[in-house]
Amino acid sequence: MTGAVVPPVHVSTTFARNIDYELRTEHGYGRDQNPTFKQPEAMIADLEGGAGALLFASGMAACTAPFQVLRQGAHVVVPESMYYGLLKWLRGFGADRGLSVTFVPTADLDALADAVRPGKTKLVWVESPCNPIWRVTDLTAAAEIAHACGARLAVDSTAATPVLTRPFEHGVDIVIHAATKYLNGHSDVMAGVVVTKVADEFWGRIREHRELTGPILGSFEAFLLTRGMRTLFLRVTAASQSAQLIAEHFDGHPVVSHVLYPGLPDHPDYAVAQRQMVGGFGGMLSIRLKGGPETSRRVAAACRLFKPATSLGGVESLIEHRGTVEGPESLTPKDLLRISVGIEDPGDLIVDLEEALKVV
Ligand SMILES: *Cc1c(COP(=O)(O)O)cnc(C)c1O
Repeated sequence: MTGAVVPPVHVSTTFARNIDYELRTEHGYGRDQNPTFKQPEAMIADLEGGAGALLFASGMAACTAPFQVLRQGAHVVVPESMYYGLLKWLRGFGADRGLSVTFVPTADLDALADAVRPGKTKLVWVESPCNPIWRVTDLTAAAEIAHACGARLAVDSTAATPVLTRPFEHGVDIVIHAATKYLNGHSDVMAGVVVTKVADEFWGRIREHRELTGPILGSFEAFLLTRGMRTLFLRVTAASQSAQLIAEHFDGHPVVSHVLYPGLPDHPDYAVAQRQMVGGFGGMLSIRLKGGPETSRRVAAACRLFKPATSLGGVESLIEHRGTVEGPESLTPKDLLRISVGIEDPGDLIVDLEEALKVV
Protein backbone atom coordinates (compact mmCIF):
# COMPACT_ATOMS: atom_id res chain seq x y z
CA MET A 1 0.00 0.00 0.00
CA THR A 2 2.84 2.43 0.77
CA GLY A 3 5.74 0.98 -1.20
CA ALA A 4 7.68 0.31 2.01
CA VAL A 5 10.36 -2.32 1.36
CA VAL A 6 10.32 -3.39 5.02
CA PRO A 7 7.11 -4.90 6.41
CA PRO A 8 5.19 -3.11 9.17
CA VAL A 9 4.65 -4.43 12.68
CA HIS A 10 0.97 -5.23 13.25
CA VAL A 11 0.22 -5.02 16.96
CA SER A 12 -3.58 -5.24 16.77
CA THR A 13 -5.02 -8.14 18.77
CA THR A 14 -8.34 -7.96 16.94
CA PHE A 15 -9.59 -7.26 13.42
CA ALA A 16 -12.85 -5.57 12.39
CA ARG A 17 -15.64 -7.40 10.54
CA ASN A 18 -17.71 -6.11 7.62
CA ILE A 19 -21.36 -4.94 7.58
CA ASP A 20 -22.58 -8.58 7.42
CA TYR A 21 -20.37 -9.44 10.41
CA GLU A 22 -18.06 -11.56 8.27
CA LEU A 23 -14.26 -11.44 8.60
CA ARG A 24 -12.86 -9.02 6.02
CA THR A 25 -9.64 -10.99 5.68
CA GLU A 26 -8.39 -14.25 7.22
CA HIS A 27 -7.64 -12.24 10.36
CA GLY A 28 -10.06 -12.31 13.26
CA TYR A 29 -8.21 -12.54 16.55
CA GLY A 30 -4.51 -12.25 17.45
CA ARG A 31 -4.17 -15.66 19.12
CA ASP A 32 -5.12 -17.38 15.83
CA GLN A 33 -3.42 -15.20 13.22
CA ASN A 34 -1.32 -12.09 12.98
CA PRO A 35 -0.02 -10.59 9.71
CA THR A 36 3.42 -10.04 11.28
CA PHE A 37 4.01 -13.70 12.17
CA LYS A 38 2.31 -14.97 9.03
CA GLN A 39 5.08 -13.46 6.93
CA PRO A 40 8.04 -15.30 8.50
CA GLU A 41 5.88 -18.46 8.57
CA ALA A 42 5.45 -18.24 4.79
CA MET A 43 9.21 -17.60 4.37
CA ILE A 44 10.15 -20.65 6.47
CA ALA A 45 7.61 -22.90 4.71
CA ASP A 46 9.17 -21.83 1.38
CA LEU A 47 12.75 -22.32 2.60
CA GLU A 48 11.92 -25.88 3.68
CA GLY A 49 9.64 -26.62 0.71
CA GLY A 50 6.75 -27.48 3.07
CA ALA A 51 2.97 -26.99 2.89
CA GLY A 52 2.85 -24.77 5.98
CA ALA A 53 4.72 -23.47 9.03
CA LEU A 54 3.56 -22.43 12.49
CA LEU A 55 5.64 -20.18 14.72
CA PHE A 56 5.68 -20.68 18.48
CA ALA A 57 6.87 -18.59 21.43
CA SER A 58 10.07 -20.68 21.83
CA GLY A 59 11.84 -23.67 20.37
CA MET A 60 10.55 -25.82 23.23
CA ALA A 61 6.93 -24.77 22.60
CA ALA A 62 7.46 -25.93 18.99
CA CYS A 63 9.30 -29.17 19.95
CA THR A 64 6.63 -30.27 22.42
CA ALA A 65 3.64 -29.44 20.14
CA PRO A 66 3.76 -32.64 18.01
CA PHE A 67 4.00 -34.76 21.21
CA GLN A 68 1.14 -32.90 22.89
CA VAL A 69 -1.32 -33.63 20.07
CA LEU A 70 -0.67 -37.41 20.03
CA ARG A 71 -3.44 -39.63 21.44
CA GLN A 72 -3.14 -41.34 24.84
CA GLY A 73 -1.10 -44.54 24.64
CA ALA A 74 0.92 -43.54 21.58
CA HIS A 75 4.44 -44.95 21.39
CA VAL A 76 7.25 -42.58 20.37
CA VAL A 77 10.91 -43.24 19.61
CA VAL A 78 13.34 -40.43 20.47
CA PRO A 79 17.14 -39.99 20.66
CA GLU A 80 18.97 -40.77 23.90
CA SER A 81 21.29 -37.86 23.10
CA MET A 82 19.56 -34.69 21.93
CA TYR A 83 18.68 -31.13 22.93
CA TYR A 84 18.58 -31.43 26.70
CA GLY A 85 15.36 -29.47 27.33
CA LEU A 86 13.31 -31.89 25.24
CA LEU A 87 15.01 -34.91 26.77
CA LYS A 88 14.12 -33.56 30.23
CA TRP A 89 10.48 -32.84 29.23
CA LEU A 90 10.03 -36.33 27.78
CA ARG A 91 11.59 -37.95 30.86
CA GLY A 92 9.53 -35.80 33.25
CA PHE A 93 6.16 -35.45 31.51
CA GLY A 94 6.03 -38.03 28.69
CA ALA A 95 4.54 -40.83 30.80
CA ASP A 96 2.13 -38.45 32.59
CA ARG A 97 0.72 -37.50 29.20
CA GLY A 98 0.09 -41.14 28.33
CA LEU A 99 3.04 -41.47 25.97
CA SER A 100 5.23 -44.53 25.93
CA VAL A 101 8.74 -43.25 25.17
CA THR A 102 11.69 -45.32 23.93
CA PHE A 103 15.12 -43.63 24.02
CA VAL A 104 17.64 -44.96 21.46
CA PRO A 105 20.76 -43.73 19.67
CA THR A 106 18.70 -42.73 16.59
CA ALA A 107 21.75 -42.23 14.32
CA ASP A 108 22.22 -46.03 14.66
CA LEU A 109 19.67 -47.31 12.13
CA ASP A 110 19.66 -50.87 13.51
CA ALA A 111 18.79 -49.55 16.98
CA LEU A 112 16.07 -47.40 15.44
CA ALA A 113 14.60 -50.33 13.48
CA ASP A 114 14.57 -52.48 16.67
CA ALA A 115 12.80 -49.74 18.66
CA VAL A 116 9.78 -49.07 16.41
CA ARG A 117 6.58 -51.06 16.96
CA PRO A 118 4.37 -51.57 13.90
CA GLY A 119 0.98 -49.91 14.35
CA LYS A 120 1.86 -48.61 17.84
CA THR A 121 4.66 -46.13 17.10
CA LYS A 122 3.11 -42.83 16.01
CA LEU A 123 6.14 -40.54 15.99
CA VAL A 124 9.85 -41.05 15.45
CA TRP A 125 11.88 -38.00 16.48
CA VAL A 126 15.47 -37.36 15.44
CA GLU A 127 17.79 -34.39 15.75
CA SER A 128 20.41 -33.97 13.04
CA PRO A 129 23.15 -32.99 13.60
CA CYS A 130 22.35 -33.72 17.26
CA ASN A 131 23.38 -31.96 20.43
CA PRO A 132 26.05 -31.99 21.71
CA ILE A 133 27.97 -34.72 19.85
CA TRP A 134 26.80 -33.80 16.31
CA ARG A 135 25.89 -37.28 15.09
CA VAL A 136 24.06 -37.07 11.75
CA THR A 137 21.03 -39.29 11.13
CA ASP A 138 20.45 -40.70 7.63
CA LEU A 139 17.02 -39.11 7.15
CA THR A 140 16.05 -41.16 4.08
CA ALA A 141 16.70 -44.43 5.91
CA ALA A 142 15.02 -43.20 9.13
CA ALA A 143 11.93 -42.15 7.12
CA GLU A 144 11.70 -45.63 5.58
CA ILE A 145 11.87 -47.22 9.04
CA ALA A 146 9.23 -44.84 10.46
CA HIS A 147 6.86 -45.15 7.51
CA ALA A 148 7.09 -48.95 7.41
CA CYS A 149 5.51 -49.08 10.87
CA GLY A 150 2.94 -46.35 10.19
CA ALA A 151 4.75 -43.56 12.10
CA ARG A 152 5.63 -40.00 11.12
CA LEU A 153 9.26 -38.87 11.11
CA ALA A 154 9.98 -35.50 12.75
CA VAL A 155 13.44 -33.91 12.68
CA ASP A 156 14.77 -31.11 14.84
CA SER A 157 16.86 -29.47 12.12
CA THR A 158 17.99 -26.46 14.18
CA ALA A 159 21.73 -27.10 13.67
CA ALA A 160 21.44 -27.89 9.94
CA THR A 161 19.08 -25.03 8.95
CA PRO A 162 17.34 -25.14 5.54
CA VAL A 163 20.58 -23.73 4.10
CA LEU A 164 22.43 -27.05 4.61
CA THR A 165 19.66 -29.69 4.66
CA ARG A 166 16.08 -29.74 3.33
CA PRO A 167 14.61 -32.69 5.24
CA PHE A 168 11.36 -32.98 3.24
CA GLU A 169 13.49 -33.96 0.22
CA HIS A 170 14.67 -36.95 2.29
CA GLY A 171 11.18 -38.21 3.22
CA VAL A 172 10.77 -36.40 6.57
CA ASP A 173 7.19 -35.42 7.51
CA ILE A 174 7.66 -32.69 10.14
CA VAL A 175 10.60 -30.26 10.56
CA ILE A 176 11.21 -28.29 13.76
CA HIS A 177 13.57 -25.40 14.35
CA ALA A 178 14.47 -23.51 17.47
CA ALA A 179 14.24 -20.21 15.54
CA THR A 180 15.93 -18.65 18.59
CA LYS A 181 19.12 -19.99 17.04
CA TYR A 182 20.21 -19.71 13.37
CA LEU A 183 16.92 -18.56 11.80
CA ASN A 184 16.92 -15.38 13.88
CA GLY A 185 20.68 -15.47 14.34
CA HIS A 186 21.19 -12.49 16.67
CA SER A 187 20.48 -13.94 20.14
CA ASP A 188 17.63 -11.47 20.70
CA VAL A 189 14.44 -13.47 19.94
CA MET A 190 12.96 -16.61 21.50
CA ALA A 191 11.00 -18.46 18.80
CA GLY A 192 10.28 -21.93 17.47
CA VAL A 193 8.68 -23.25 14.31
CA VAL A 194 6.99 -26.47 13.20
CA VAL A 195 6.89 -27.06 9.43
CA THR A 196 4.85 -29.74 7.67
CA LYS A 197 5.28 -31.48 4.35
CA VAL A 198 1.50 -31.99 3.93
CA ALA A 199 -1.44 -30.16 5.50
CA ASP A 200 -3.14 -33.27 6.90
CA GLU A 201 -5.27 -34.00 9.98
CA PHE A 202 -2.19 -34.16 12.26
CA TRP A 203 -1.19 -30.69 11.07
CA GLY A 204 -4.71 -29.43 11.79
CA ARG A 205 -4.35 -30.68 15.37
CA ILE A 206 -1.02 -28.84 15.81
CA ARG A 207 -2.60 -25.64 14.48
CA GLU A 208 -5.58 -26.03 16.80
CA HIS A 209 -3.26 -26.80 19.73
CA ARG A 210 -1.45 -23.50 19.14
CA GLU A 211 -4.67 -21.54 18.67
CA LEU A 212 -6.28 -22.90 21.83
CA THR A 213 -3.29 -23.00 24.19
CA GLY A 214 -1.79 -19.75 22.84
CA PRO A 215 2.06 -20.09 22.73
CA ILE A 216 2.27 -17.59 19.85
CA LEU A 217 5.07 -15.28 18.78
CA GLY A 218 4.74 -11.58 19.65
CA SER A 219 4.64 -9.06 16.80
CA PHE A 220 8.01 -7.47 17.57
CA GLU A 221 9.70 -10.87 17.83
CA ALA A 222 8.17 -11.83 14.46
CA PHE A 223 9.47 -8.60 12.94
CA LEU A 224 12.98 -9.22 14.31
CA LEU A 225 12.88 -12.82 13.07
CA THR A 226 12.06 -11.67 9.52
CA ARG A 227 14.88 -9.17 9.77
CA GLY A 228 17.32 -11.82 11.02
CA MET A 229 16.40 -14.28 8.26
CA ARG A 230 17.45 -11.80 5.56
CA THR A 231 21.06 -12.78 6.28
CA LEU A 232 20.46 -16.48 7.01
CA PHE A 233 22.41 -17.76 3.99
CA LEU A 234 25.39 -15.43 4.59
CA ARG A 235 25.58 -16.23 8.30
CA VAL A 236 25.23 -20.00 8.00
CA THR A 237 27.72 -20.19 5.15
CA ALA A 238 30.29 -18.13 7.09
CA ALA A 239 29.78 -20.10 10.33
CA SER A 240 30.12 -23.45 8.49
CA GLN A 241 33.33 -22.43 6.75
CA SER A 242 34.86 -21.18 10.01
CA ALA A 243 33.73 -24.27 11.98
CA GLN A 244 35.39 -26.49 9.36
CA LEU A 245 38.67 -24.54 9.72
CA ILE A 246 38.50 -24.65 13.54
CA ALA A 247 37.70 -28.39 13.56
CA GLU A 248 40.61 -29.16 11.23
CA HIS A 249 42.98 -26.93 13.21
CA PHE A 250 42.28 -28.52 16.62
CA ASP A 251 41.94 -32.13 15.37
CA GLY A 252 45.09 -33.80 16.72
CA HIS A 253 46.03 -30.83 18.97
CA PRO A 254 48.19 -32.10 21.88
CA VAL A 255 45.68 -31.27 24.67
CA VAL A 256 42.51 -32.10 22.69
CA SER A 257 41.34 -35.73 22.85
CA HIS A 258 38.39 -35.47 20.39
CA VAL A 259 36.99 -32.98 17.91
CA LEU A 260 33.35 -33.85 17.21
CA TYR A 261 32.36 -32.35 13.86
CA PRO A 262 30.55 -34.05 10.93
CA GLY A 263 32.88 -32.34 8.43
CA LEU A 264 35.90 -34.34 9.61
CA PRO A 265 36.57 -37.58 7.64
CA ASP A 266 36.98 -39.59 10.88
CA HIS A 267 33.50 -38.59 12.15
CA PRO A 268 31.29 -41.74 12.24
CA ASP A 269 28.63 -40.09 10.01
CA TYR A 270 30.94 -38.29 7.57
CA ALA A 271 29.60 -40.22 4.56
CA VAL A 272 25.94 -39.59 5.51
CA ALA A 273 26.68 -35.92 6.17
CA GLN A 274 28.36 -35.57 2.76
CA ARG A 275 25.22 -36.95 1.07
CA GLN A 276 22.68 -35.09 3.16
CA MET A 277 24.26 -31.73 4.01
CA VAL A 278 24.85 -29.38 1.08
CA GLY A 279 27.44 -26.61 1.12
CA GLY A 280 28.86 -27.25 4.59
CA PHE A 281 28.54 -29.16 7.85
CA GLY A 282 27.23 -26.39 10.08
CA GLY A 283 28.59 -24.01 12.68
CA MET A 284 28.39 -26.38 15.68
CA LEU A 285 31.21 -28.54 17.00
CA SER A 286 32.37 -29.93 20.32
CA ILE A 287 35.84 -30.61 21.66
CA ARG A 288 36.89 -32.91 24.47
CA LEU A 289 40.06 -32.17 26.42
CA LYS A 290 42.58 -34.62 27.80
CA GLY A 291 42.63 -32.75 31.14
CA GLY A 292 39.07 -33.65 32.20
CA PRO A 293 36.07 -31.59 33.41
CA GLU A 294 37.91 -29.00 35.54
CA THR A 295 40.33 -28.19 32.72
CA SER A 296 37.42 -27.81 30.28
CA ARG A 297 35.66 -25.33 32.58
CA ARG A 298 38.89 -23.32 32.95
CA VAL A 299 39.46 -23.20 29.19
CA ALA A 300 35.89 -21.95 28.57
CA ALA A 301 36.40 -19.21 31.16
CA ALA A 302 39.79 -18.22 29.69
CA CYS A 303 38.41 -17.45 26.21
CA ARG A 304 38.08 -13.77 25.37
CA LEU A 305 36.42 -13.72 21.93
CA PHE A 306 34.26 -16.83 22.52
CA LYS A 307 31.69 -15.88 25.19
CA PRO A 308 31.19 -18.52 27.92
CA ALA A 309 27.41 -18.83 27.49
CA THR A 310 24.74 -21.33 26.52
CA SER A 311 22.69 -21.22 23.28
CA LEU A 312 23.92 -21.29 19.68
CA GLY A 313 23.40 -19.98 16.17
CA GLY A 314 24.07 -16.29 16.80
CA VAL A 315 26.58 -14.03 15.06
CA GLU A 316 28.83 -14.17 18.15
CA SER A 317 30.83 -17.30 18.98
CA LEU A 318 29.92 -19.10 22.21
CA ILE A 319 31.61 -21.83 24.22
CA GLU A 320 30.11 -23.80 27.07
CA HIS A 321 30.78 -26.68 29.40
CA ARG A 322 27.70 -28.79 28.63
CA GLY A 323 28.01 -31.02 31.71
CA THR A 324 27.58 -28.02 34.03
CA VAL A 325 24.55 -26.71 32.09
CA GLU A 326 22.84 -30.12 31.81
CA GLY A 327 23.42 -31.14 35.44
CA PRO A 328 24.25 -34.41 37.20
CA GLU A 329 21.80 -36.63 35.22
CA SER A 330 23.36 -35.71 31.88
CA LEU A 331 25.05 -38.45 29.80
CA THR A 332 27.25 -35.88 28.02
CA PRO A 333 31.01 -36.51 28.50
CA LYS A 334 32.16 -34.35 31.41
CA ASP A 335 35.16 -32.97 29.52
CA LEU A 336 33.08 -31.74 26.55
CA LEU A 337 33.01 -28.11 25.45
CA ARG A 338 30.28 -27.17 22.97
CA ILE A 339 31.22 -24.46 20.50
CA SER A 340 28.86 -22.32 18.44
CA VAL A 341 30.91 -20.59 15.76
CA GLY A 342 29.78 -17.09 14.86
CA ILE A 343 30.78 -14.84 11.99
CA GLU A 344 33.97 -13.35 13.45
CA ASP A 345 37.27 -13.79 11.61
CA PRO A 346 38.13 -17.52 11.88
CA GLY A 347 41.82 -16.71 12.43
CA ASP A 348 40.93 -14.63 15.50
CA LEU A 349 38.76 -17.48 16.84
CA ILE A 350 41.58 -20.01 16.42
CA VAL A 351 44.06 -17.71 18.21
CA ASP A 352 41.56 -17.15 21.05
CA LEU A 353 41.09 -20.89 21.59
CA GLU A 354 44.83 -21.60 21.27
CA GLU A 355 45.53 -18.98 23.97
CA ALA A 356 42.79 -20.35 26.24
CA LEU A 357 44.17 -23.90 25.86
CA LYS A 358 47.45 -22.68 27.39
CA VAL A 359 45.77 -22.70 30.84
CA VAL A 360 45.84 -26.53 30.56
C1 LIG B 1 17.71 -24.32 21.67
C2 LIG B 1 17.18 -25.56 21.09
C3 LIG B 1 15.86 -25.97 21.34
C4 LIG B 1 14.94 -25.19 22.23
O1 LIG B 1 14.72 -23.87 21.78
P1 LIG B 1 14.32 -22.68 22.79
O2 LIG B 1 14.03 -21.54 21.88
O3 LIG B 1 15.48 -22.47 23.71
O4 LIG B 1 13.11 -23.13 23.55
C5 LIG B 1 15.43 -27.12 20.72
N1 LIG B 1 16.23 -27.85 19.92
C6 LIG B 1 17.49 -27.49 19.67
C7 LIG B 1 18.34 -28.34 18.78
C8 LIG B 1 18.02 -26.34 20.24
O5 LIG B 1 19.29 -26.00 19.99
